[in-house]
Amino acid sequence: MRYNSSILIIKLLVLHYLSVLCVSQDFDFFYFVQQWPGAYCDTKHSCCYPKTGKPAADFGIHGLWPNYKDGSWPSNCDPDSVFSVQEISDLIGRLQKSWPSLSCPSSNGNRFWSHEWEKHGTCSESELDQHDYFEAGLKLKEKVNLLSILKNAGIEPDDGFYSLDSIEEAIKEGVGHAAGIECNKDSAGNSQLYQVYLCVDTSGSDIIECPKLPRGRCASNVQFAKF
Ligand code: AMP
Ligand code: AMP
Repeated sequence: MRYNSSILIIKLLVLHYLSVLCVSQDFDFFYFVQQWPGAYCDTKHSCCYPKTGKPAADFGIHGLWPNYKDGSWPSNCDPDSVFSVQEISDLIGRLQKSWPSLSCPSSNGNRFWSHEWEKHGTCSESELDQHDYFEAGLKLKEKVNLLSILKNAGIEPDDGFYSLDSIEEAIKEGVGHAAGIECNKDSAGNSQLYQVYLCVDTSGSDIIECPKLPRGRCASNVQFAKF
């Protein structure tokens, strides 16, 4: 009897250990990805403003994406962890302002946030629960004012062309760490500033030097679109 119950306890411990292993995903760092709304909207697919109206002419958050040093990344790590608005109800106003949804049809943001949580956030659940994940994104955005960093360097969203080097330099100077710059093409085919990737430690709070910079697909001179 005693022997049987110790076997049972051992089995339960092993099961518990395995379930913890399955849920806790390792990752090496985050990309904190900010997006220029003008460059999301002026492409072939265009955009739809959120139900709350046209977002401010400022960088918006696209996501906080767990990544590995080798350039790969995990996705959709926990189908059991569904997005729940109730868990982030105190953050909604800030999310609508700083993490605006621009895809069509127009929405209140839940669809975009739910996509980001389920695809990316579930892979950093070992560090940040749903509330902490969205709050971490908001705090990072408050910490780094990309638009004012660029404006201080004379780089403005005025449809002008700027050298990729000057954009990279301005951000490195202003943030203290190099950023990855991603471009897309407007409907006329011009290469334009689309997204800025900063690297963040696994706690989601500190900007770090990137273990690996993402590929950017930018021309040597890129347009900074009006919005
Ligand atoms: P792309 O094809 O590069 O435009 O990427 C399309 C989507 O793939 C992005 O919006 C992300 O959700 C995902 N993705 C691309 N690169 C990464 C990355 N380094 N980490 C996490 N997700 C990524
Ligand atoms: P991810 O897979 O996390 O990058 O997200 C890629 C998907 O998010 C694509 O379907 C994009 O069209 C969409 N997406 C990118 N930026 C936004 C945005 N600001 N609002 C809504 N959807 C977006």
